[in-house]
Amino acid sequence: MKNPRGTLVSLSAIAEYAVAVSILIPNSHTARHCRSSKIRGMASFRDRIQPAAPNPAEIPGRRWIYVPYDRLTDRTGPLTEQPASATGVLLIESRAKGNRRAYHKKKLVLLLANMRHFALEQANRGCKVIYHLTDHTYGEALLHLQRKHNLPEIVVPEPAERELRLDLAFAQEQGLRLRLVLDTTWLSTAEDFAQVFGPYRVGRSYVMDRFYRSMRQQTKILMEGSRPHGGKFSFDSENRKPFRDELPVPIPPEFLPDELTLEVISLVEEHYPNHFGSSDNFCLPVTQQQADQQWQFAVQHLLPHFGPFEDAMRDDHLQLFHSRTSPLINLSRLLPADLIRDVEQAAGSGAIPLASAEGFIRQLLGWREFMRHLHRETDGYRLVSVLQENATQGTGAPNLSSSDIGATPSALSAELPLPAVYWGAKSGLHCIDTVVAQVIEEGWSHHITRLMVLSNLATLCGFSPRQLTDWFWIAYIDAYDWVVETNVLGMATYADGGLTATKPYVSGAAYIHRMSNYCGHCQFDPKRSTGPDSCPFTALYWTFLERNQPVLASNFRLQMPYASLNKKPAAELVQLRARAAEAIHQLQSLPYPKL
Ligand SMILES: Cc1cc2nc3c(=O)[nH]c(=O)nc-3n(C[C@H](O)[C@H](O)[C@H](O)COP(=O)(O)OP(=O)(O)OC[C@H]3O[C@@H](n4cnc5c(N)ncnc54)[C@H](O)[C@@H]3O)c2cc1C
Ligand code: SF4
Repeated sequence: MKNPRGTLVSLSAIAEYAVAVSILIPNSHTARHCRSSKIRGMASFRDRIQPAAPNPAEIPGRRWIYVPYDRLTDRTGPLTEQPASATGVLLIESRAKGNRRAYHKKKLVLLLANMRHFALEQANRGCKVIYHLTDHTYGEALLHLQRKHNLPEIVVPEPAERELRLDLAFAQEQGLRLRLVLDTTWLSTAEDFAQVFGPYRVGRSYVMDRFYRSMRQQTKILMEGSRPHGGKFSFDSENRKPFRDELPVPIPPEFLPDELTLEVISLVEEHYPNHFGSSDNFCLPVTQQQADQQWQFAVQHLLPHFGPFEDAMRDDHLQLFHSRTSPLINLSRLLPADLIRDVEQAAGSGAIPLASAEGFIRQLLGWREFMRHLHRETDGYRLVSVLQENATQGTGAPNLSSSDIGATPSALSAELPLPAVYWGAKSGLHCIDTVVAQVIEEGWSHHITRLMVLSNLATLCGFSPRQLTDWFWIAYIDAYDWVVETNVLGMATYADGGLTATKPYVSGAAYIHRMSNYCGHCQFDPKRSTGPDSCPFTALYWTFLERNQPVLASNFRLQMPYASLNKKPAAELVQLRARAAEAIHQLQSLPYPKL
């Protein structure tokens, strides 16, 4: 197996830091090294975690558990299975991972600050903690630690990220003694997924709704016996209202950085200066208590109104009634099972209307689990791209050897490079400029802006799905391989040819105009489809359908749009093509801004 650092790790970028960083505890030489090295952003944390470091006599007799960066919980899994006095916790900060992509600075701060606070939380409850900072991969670091401290077999919940699974498997080949156990933060198992869909096979499409219904039946969540509460499984059709200031939008709590988080911010600024976005104004939860507080706010103030407005978009209320819990759920600071229980209880007491509760539960019990299984089943969509390639080239059996550039399915042959507008160049398209500015600032935007603004534009124009995926992966603080690749290559761009979505999620200006207030603040006219001041989305929409007729025209769900397209006079089609080509050209010509 290839070293999972592979080509994506910029070794020169790592060398830039020029520090042989095996810091921390308990060795006094390495601690000295830490003080004298260029590594900053550590002093306060180091002093506070140091007492939890084990001495050699404290190593045996404990169960040593590696807690991956995204499994920061002691509410389920191996950390709950023995007393703290019998628990040893291993936590690793890997610069190889930090440098693998130009991750948003706020994501790095969020992840590292949570990891350091989690380490202290474990120390405070009596665990011994080895907190290790390295330039190497997690697997290499674990191997080093196991040899150095003479650790017995290390336990780890099966990693969610494919990247980490490969990393650890490689280290096992090098001698790491590791035991993978079931990751109990998930709500379903591979068997649950297989029971609904059977084994993966070519040409199969996966409909989330089937999986969701089965999970509802199995877990009895929002069920009355075998019948769904309220008479139907989904209230989605009731949840499509624009927001017209019907009620005040609550302002979520902000969490000012403490000393430890300020250290992390300075570390990120020093070591990752050219990464995406900014660490300024960081105010996200970094402790378990803060994560719980943010969630309680969402339950009391946001989710009661979530359902009806879940598809709405506003340039003055960027979050609206979305919980913004994904960054914390994906770190396991918040557990899906707990959130669903709270929402179900709130629905039972009438505090959250059923349509809103069901809408939220569907995202967690349905979409989130479904996406993770799809990623595993398709080996991160590599299986899909290889099969597409073979279909076009007529070659033999799929070669599933992993590729470091990621899977590149492109059922619609979309190959244009992702333009500078995604990096902050102003396009004059108010919807796009608004959402990109939010992402640069916050590393987050809600679902519909991701789907019907950012991805919609890319799909309509034919920008590379792989490049769009890599952009989302870098730009969003909740992005991890299992969730970002499935959402972008699958749901958002139709690059997988319909494996995940029954039709491409695309629209012209009419949808954005109806669901947002963007168009009222835009230089373009959403009601016009041709001419210099017409909204480009509409011309792009019709030419997208025209261009992809060979692949999409037989799609049952696209019969109406194709019927409308086929009725358009030839002269109008000529104008639409000209407007679309001009818009794509303008986007492609924008210079890249200095980040
Ligand atoms: C192009 C695109 C890229 C996306 N990339 C990511 C990503 O990198 N990370 C990520 O967590 N989500 C991603 N999503 C899914 C979804 O947009 C976010 O989970 C959601 O917007 C997060 O905001 P929230 O916590 O307020 O979610 P809510 O709307 O309050 O939903 C509750 C929770 O349900 C889960 N959820 C909802 N939809 C999905 C989904 N489609 N897939 C998986 N989980 C879901 C999330 O954990 C979310 O926190 C993406 C969606 C699209 C269309
Ligand atoms: S008019 Fe078009 S470009 Fe402008 S905000 Fe509306 S949809 Fe976006």
